[in-house]
Amino acid sequence: MAEHTLKGIGFKDVTLGDGGYLIELERRGYVDSGSERETVGTGKGSGQFTPEVTIEHPEALRGLHEEFLLAGSDVLQALTFFATREKLGRAGYGDETEAINYAAVRIAREVAGDQARVAGSVTRTQLFEREGATAAGKAHDLIAEQVRMLQDAGVGLLILETFFRLDEMLIALKCARESGLPIIATMSFRPTTTESSDGNSPAACAAEMAAEGAQMVGANCEQDPERMLSILREMRSVVDVPLAAQPAAFRTTDETPCFTKIPEFPDDLETVQVSRSSFVDFAASAAEEGIGFLGGCCGCNASYIRAMHRGLQRSGSA
Ligand SMILES: [Zn+2]
Repeated sequence: MAEHTLKGIGFKDVTLGDGGYLIELERRGYVDSGSERETVGTGKGSGQFTPEVTIEHPEALRGLHEEFLLAGSDVLQALTFFATREKLGRAGYGDETEAINYAAVRIAREVAGDQARVAGSVTRTQLFEREGATAAGKAHDLIAEQVRMLQDAGVGLLILETFFRLDEMLIALKCARESGLPIIATMSFRPTTTESSDGNSPAACAAEMAAEGAQMVGANCEQDPERMLSILREMRSVVDVPLAAQPAAFRTTDETPCFTKIPEFPDDLETVQVSRSSFVDFAASAAEEGIGFLGGCCGCNASYIRAMHRGLQRSGSA
């Protein structure tokens, strides 16, 4: 089996990540979607989908990590998504910023043991959507603070994910580079699949992320595997680094090719769930598509990771 390295850490031909935590824990009753209070999916919300479950119901998070590990994940993501201080503050958990980030990493590390690596998850601050480009300095400071916490808590790599804007991703990459940790960087394309929300094509995003220090670049969330493939192929055409792909498991439309903008989000997602079998085929063709890191995002519970593991086995990549 071929292997590649990420800053000296050996990875398999195709490394298998885990699935989506917040949507799954929301379905299980531990995470607040915010849909009772406001229109979710605007990027401007106050408290939806924040990870206070790490300190309020750590056993629920631990159980989900265990399910992913059992399903074949080589990398577990600490649930530090939306855990920058300002975002947590809007949800009423600003004072718990350290506790939430440290608990998330500790729980993931305890479950991973020596069977999996633990990644810190870093995402957009939502400040660009709320305040415009003048938020750049604040976003930098918030992300830099979180990266320092994640490194201090002992993550082995960073996954920068679900960034809608390339300019904010580049800020996060600067913060991540200073840690010296391996970096996987994935954009989420919304509302279209042809450009980021600040107007950069998938190819341009991939080239810039690789040039700015990401060892793997790619896409995550918003589209199912089939719809995400066109984005990945465009990226493949301009970079030599392995691609990272973590699709969602929800069906979208040509008019609205991103699940957080369809009317079913978030309370009717069961009606647009994509079956896990399409993830078997996606995983089976991952190596051919240049994908070095494969996981699932929103809508992917452990059964989807198990399906991808089966696909990798079928192709001889696991
Ligand atoms: Zn997602």
